Amino acid sequence: MGAPDTLLAKLKRRIASAGAITLEHYMEACLGDPEFGYYATRDPFGAQGDFITAPEISQIFGELIGLWCVSVWRNMGAPSPLRLVELGPGRGALMADALRAAKLVPDFLQATDIHLVETSPILRAAQAKHLQATPMQPVWHDRLGDVPEGAAIVIANEFLDALPVRQFERRDGAWFERCVGVSDAGELTLRTAPTPLETLDILPESVRIVVKDGDIAEIRPGVEGLVQDLARRANHHPLAALVIDYGHRKSAPGETLQAVRAHEYSDPLATPGEADLTAHVDFAELGDTAAKNNLRVHGPIPQADYLNALGLRERRERLMEKASEKDRELIASGAKRLADREQMGEHFKGMALTSEGLTPAPFADIPVSGNNT
Ligand code: SAH
Repeated sequence: MGAPDTLLAKLKRRIASAGAITLEHYMEACLGDPEFGYYATRDPFGAQGDFITAPEISQIFGELIGLWCVSVWRNMGAPSPLRLVELGPGRGALMADALRAAKLVPDFLQATDIHLVETSPILRAAQAKHLQATPMQPVWHDRLGDVPEGAAIVIANEFLDALPVRQFERRDGAWFERCVGVSDAGELTLRTAPTPLETLDILPESVRIVVKDGDIAEIRPGVEGLVQDLARRANHHPLAALVIDYGHRKSAPGETLQAVRAHEYSDPLATPGEADLTAHVDFAELGDTAAKNNLRVHGPIPQADYLNALGLRERRERLMEKASEKDRELIASGAKRLADREQMGEHFKGMALTSEGLTPAPFADIPVSGNNT
């Protein structure tokens, strides 16, 4: 009997038979391979896991988003039914906290049904457990397109960063796609495609203008399909999507693909399927794609600004009043981590994409602040 199969062995067989694969296909396999993919095989969250996200840091995050959903629903004219959709809900903490906060408005809960878009069976089970106590039971889908039609609010926290990216390297005035091949020593290695890109249409214009040899351009093909799904819904029904992620406000040359394992950065090619692979979100690319598809674009604004405007400080004070000394420290440090500009407050941003005529607070009335990165 040979050694047990692994994603590394599977990728090497694939490359041996069909040649080097694009980074997009590599990332797709690392995260989503049904047998060995990172999300398909584990619950990666928390101190014991590989990374921690805002809803896992503090309940305040999901609670404020729950209240945001109520206010947007009212702004829509209180439609019923409302599809409350979350893309990539992780362990389900955000949705559980959001629904608990929304209990303050029973009409909202009565109008709402819950739709979770999640491909990982392990995380679907974790979400079911977390949402056991909620008044309505969620329905799971593999993709946003499968959610029944109707007015919708869509939440995506740290979902876009997990959608695969393509990278291109500028050489002698042309762009060559970056691929993953196998070296003579039998290790996965980055190389560029032998022939250059024939059309530059897929690269952001700002990147095309300022480049020099050696520059890298990174794009995320999945954004277009996601935006089109949102736009299709917005043609017929009120729609608001809240996208929260780390990333930059302007498109610029550079690579941001990163691997994280046990809270440390690692080499993205070293342990396929064992590390979380993500790349920063290009909010300019997202906003431009949304605007081209006739969605209204609000923001992006830094996480510190939208959380403070939604009532982070007030909620923290309320929780502290009732808490023990030890819990008070946790509440304060969690709130600080979310909104401190040195921590998650500036690098993380929120953007709302809506159908026409919606003015989702606080995006509609907060001036864009912070630096331009
Ligand atoms: N929103 C959560 C989890 C972020 S991690 C939080 O903030 O804690 C990314 C999530 O997206 C995971 O639940 C992962 O399984 C899911 N995911 C990744 N790619 C996906 C895809 N293509 N379709 C559906 N879900 C996906």
